[in-house]
Amino acid sequence: MNNLFDNVCEFDAILFRRQLHQRPELSSFEENTALSIALQLEALGLTPSTGIGGHGVVCVIDSGLPGETTLLRADFDALPIKEKNAFSYCSQHEGVMHACGHDGHTATLMAVAQTLSVNPPTQGRVILLFQPAEETGMGAASMLNDAWLAEQRVDNVFAYHNLPGYPLHTVIVKPDAFACASTGVTIELEGKTSHAARPENGVNPTTAMLKVIEYLQCMPTRYRESFTLVTVVHALLGEEAFGTAPGKATVMATLRSDNSSVLNSMKSDLCEMVSTLAVQDKLTSQIQWQESFNAVINSPKHCELVCEQASELGLPVEILSEPMRWSEDVAEFLQKWPGALFCIGSGTEHPELHNPDYDFPDALIGSASGLFLGIIRRIHHS
Ligand SMILES: [Zn+2]
Ligand SMILES: [Zn+2]
Repeated sequence: MNNLFDNVCEFDAILFRRQLHQRPELSSFEENTALSIALQLEALGLTPSTGIGGHGVVCVIDSGLPGETTLLRADFDALPIKEKNAFSYCSQHEGVMHACGHDGHTATLMAVAQTLSVNPPTQGRVILLFQPAEETGMGAASMLNDAWLAEQRVDNVFAYHNLPGYPLHTVIVKPDAFACASTGVTIELEGKTSHAARPENGVNPTTAMLKVIEYLQCMPTRYRESFTLVTVVHALLGEEAFGTAPGKATVMATLRSDNSSVLNSMKSDLCEMVSTLAVQDKLTSQIQWQESFNAVINSPKHCELVCEQASELGLPVEILSEPMRWSEDVAEFLQKWPGALFCIGSGTEHPELHNPDYDFPDALIGSASGLFLGIIRRIHHS
């Protein structure tokens, strides 16, 4: 194997993070990032398994004694965004950047790995899980398709996401629904074009398209039992030609809810509405679902543990009353095993996630890895 990174023997988490930042890879194409993670784990004397559900990497640190199993998860994919930063370690891959801080999440878990490699758990075992393809909502589910991982009995899952807009190092938790279920939808309506002077000879999808958009925008009022949100993100009708009446329309939207089953009802109601409309207007219709995420459901017990450990470390804690509107595919692990996703503030003035001037705040590596290690100490040290 070819070592892509320079500093494997003497581990420096901030340097490691910056090296990841320099060489970002898009979701499902993170081959070199996965290789770097595996090499770094090996350099720490650990024995990672690679190729888990695509480019996933898993590393078990086993005390050899009975006890609980704790899974710590970090994601490592980047985004199709052109970086605007000009510092020495900015992206060397044109049009791709770590704009969500997954480089920092991975460096944090590597810092945890380093400590556990010299101070392993004295009971039970810890699974360090490095996950690809979070941004597309594919990575966690495909890792769980791995037979070995799917068979594991896991007692505790923990993961964190950095969060601009909150004070640096503030730990943000919420029991039960922490982040929304969401899905992208593309609706295509097809009729028949005609000369614009003879629209009666065609099958025009304009009226149906407007009804679909109106239905989408009014959707949240129908599901008052949960938080729901629909954003129409794109619409396209016919061609830019004054002589042609349109024969095709496309509408794209994002649907969200803090309850996965409510989101499923929204999906089936939308399907029914579109197919009824298509029959009425003699159109053919197609619906595609993309980038689908379940809601992140946290266990109250695990949230409590995060809060207690944060307080012990002197980190401020904020307990949310409403779920985050965004989605995170750690939901797949939390559907299978109990645990908690929490956030750590990246600073109130920090550039937003997915912005071209964003960069993960290195200071969080220390507080986040300290929090993970404190939780491990509580569960795995007698
Ligand atoms: Zn993101
Ligand atoms: Zn992210």
